[in-house]
Amino acid sequence: MKRCSKCILTEYTPNIAFNEEGNCNYCESHQPIGGTENEKQLLEVLDKYRRNDGKYECIVPISGGRDSSAVLLKMVKDYNMKVLAVSYDNPYSPPETQANVRNATRILGVDLVVLKPKREIHQRIFKHNFNAWLKKPRLGVLPMMCAGCKLLVWEILKVAKKHKVELIVDGLNRFEDTSYKKALLGMDIGSQWESTYKQIFFGVIKEMIRNPRYLNPAYLPTLANSYLFGDFYALGSRLFFKKIKSLDLFYYVKWDEKELLSRIQSEIDWTYPAGAPSTWRWDCRVAYLKDLIYLHYLGITEKDDFYSKMIREGVISREEALKRIDRENRYPQAIVKELFAEAEIPVGRCEFLFHEAHS
Ligand SMILES: [Zn+2]
Repeated sequence: MKRCSKCILTEYTPNIAFNEEGNCNYCESHQPIGGTENEKQLLEVLDKYRRNDGKYECIVPISGGRDSSAVLLKMVKDYNMKVLAVSYDNPYSPPETQANVRNATRILGVDLVVLKPKREIHQRIFKHNFNAWLKKPRLGVLPMMCAGCKLLVWEILKVAKKHKVELIVDGLNRFEDTSYKKALLGMDIGSQWESTYKQIFFGVIKEMIRNPRYLNPAYLPTLANSYLFGDFYALGSRLFFKKIKSLDLFYYVKWDEKELLSRIQSEIDWTYPAGAPSTWRWDCRVAYLKDLIYLHYLGITEKDDFYSKMIREGVISREEALKRIDRENRYPQAIVKELFAEAEIPVGRCEFLFHEAHS
């Protein structure tokens, strides 16, 4: 399997093209990431939300995974904010996530709200959308099976309103703005995701018309909700919760993987499952499934895209990235098979996922 000679994207990556030196167009069109924000600007924003009446100054949504745990730690210890942590009891998360959430909030002395999904809606959406996808497996709409998690943003915004908190601090970083998913929806690979809201909408609608099984009336309200409140930058979030500002901490301060990992492990007893291949994205079993599918069709996962960006930014070498994906793209198949069993999807329909298509 051919890979770009600069990054690690494969020849099966959507819309990829190589020049004479073997460099790909993803590398050639790469714009330095990091943005214009910095810590001084972050402090200016935070200062606007500080209070002297002891009430919460911001909300940190925490999954128990690596980056959200680091955000909680930094907001409390480095920036001295009075935080309300909001976590989601995700049916697809391993128990280590909630253990991490409990440890972090206990050690940091932070109040916690745990949201639980109603009437197994999350499992029903996953099952429905994954079955729809299997009928016509087009990769652009694969993330639709994660619509259940998208309902969470609305719930967090309601918690913020209830507690009169006007700031939400999240933990996205620029490396995880997956480029190949944009290519799959016919979008420019260089566009930043805050500005691609409409394009994603039309891209997804076009794909859904090709596979009307997605348009089951029983799930349309959920789909509308997951679009309107899909993230804190989405139309509904901005329109219906005008007063609430959201920001991503690592758009302002450096995201340093080694430093963050070492801090969460030593300061808030953060752990991850012994069998997990990576410290990233082990917190959702559906993420494993998605990566397994991308790996089958494209020879890459979200990690290849992530590490490719880190190479272009000079954060890691190509050799290190290759070593990491060699280890991290080996998915515990038992987890995915267990997921199928829960959703009553016969493994036979997805047997292809367990064989390598490209080598
Ligand atoms: Zn490349």
